[in-house]
Amino acid sequence: MLPSGARTNLFDLSQAQLEAWFAQLGEPSFRASQLMRWVYHKGVLDFADMTSFSKDLRQRMAECGEFLLPDIESEEVSVDGTRKWMLAIEPGKCVEMVFIPEAHRGTLCISSQVGCALECAFCATGRQGFAGNLACGQITGQVYLARERLRETDSTQDRSITNVVFMGMGEPLLNFDNVLAAADLMMSDFGFGLSRRRVTVSTAGVVPAIHSLAEHSNVSLAVSLHAPDDTLRDILVPLNRKYPIAQLMDACRLYNKALGRGRVVTIEYVLLRNVNDTDGHLRALIRLLKDLPCKVNLIPFNAFAGSGYEAPSKTRVRFFAEGLLKAGLRVTVRTTRGADIAAACGQLAGRFTDRTKRRLRHRQLATQTLPA
Ligand code: SAH
Repeated sequence: MLPSGARTNLFDLSQAQLEAWFAQLGEPSFRASQLMRWVYHKGVLDFADMTSFSKDLRQRMAECGEFLLPDIESEEVSVDGTRKWMLAIEPGKCVEMVFIPEAHRGTLCISSQVGCALECAFCATGRQGFAGNLACGQITGQVYLARERLRETDSTQDRSITNVVFMGMGEPLLNFDNVLAAADLMMSDFGFGLSRRRVTVSTAGVVPAIHSLAEHSNVSLAVSLHAPDDTLRDILVPLNRKYPIAQLMDACRLYNKALGRGRVVTIEYVLLRNVNDTDGHLRALIRLLKDLPCKVNLIPFNAFAGSGYEAPSKTRVRFFAEGLLKAGLRVTVRTTRGADIAAACGQLAGRFTDRTKRRLRHRQLATQTLPA
């Protein structure tokens, strides 16, 4: 048998790529969906157990294919039932994923990169620097692993992952091909079989990639706006200097068209006390969004050590939500979950070598730009 490494990690392959892999073995294309059912529906990863294939084919598959998953380094459970896993992608490189159980749904928040290159001012991940993209199988592998762990530890949580959001570490649209392939596998009937309404890519606003996504996918999209004007957004989301708000709004409109009737983009707005949560910001946000069919998701800032930002008061969050509602916008407020295990939005930090010394730079930046 070939040494591991010479074999293909079959978690990395889309259905079309699996079909090509089987073609190389001289097999018809329907073998791909057969294999996907074993893997994604039944959770069977041992070729020997895949009894719908002949013994000879199982042997040949095992010679050139394998199933590699990230290792679970640690698992923590919050008092509210939220679970956080640290996953080793390769030695020294870890990412985090989080499962948030609710009465009628279970949301798995997954990572797409080790760290993040975007340096959004209020995000813990961004302060760590960037250490690489996850492969497709390292992304779908997260869903696979979470499902297995939930089944093992709590039988009532079987089939409990109803939603997947790319809101863990990283900027999904800067890892476009792998994220696209992974999202397809999540939504495919032969894959995880999730509805396209229940798989959401969240982006800081990589405008050209939103255009490409509209061409190639039907996945739900959330856009991290966080400020109603370019001056403030340039500071909070530095990517704005490259793709300013007007371009981002056009990309949202285009994506709405691609989504079709009844579906619209979600606009995420993290509320930072005295930074973007004043009456003036509310009015500007209403003006900006009045012509864009969307849902607004308000996220009260989750504090972390040394962030330099503060969470808004509860009254302020309510005031903001009511103001948007009165203006005719659809609004939800994200409840903070898993804060006791640092599993809330923007608290995911993973573990890897900080090659960019970004932490230090940020500390300096924070003292310059922060509100009093
Ligand atoms: N790169 C993607 C995914 C990031 S995480 C994006 O920017 O959308 C998902 C959401 O959490 C984003 O809207 C992000 O801005 C927000 N977020 C980051 N840090 C946060 C924090 N400390 N508190 C609350 N939300 C935060």
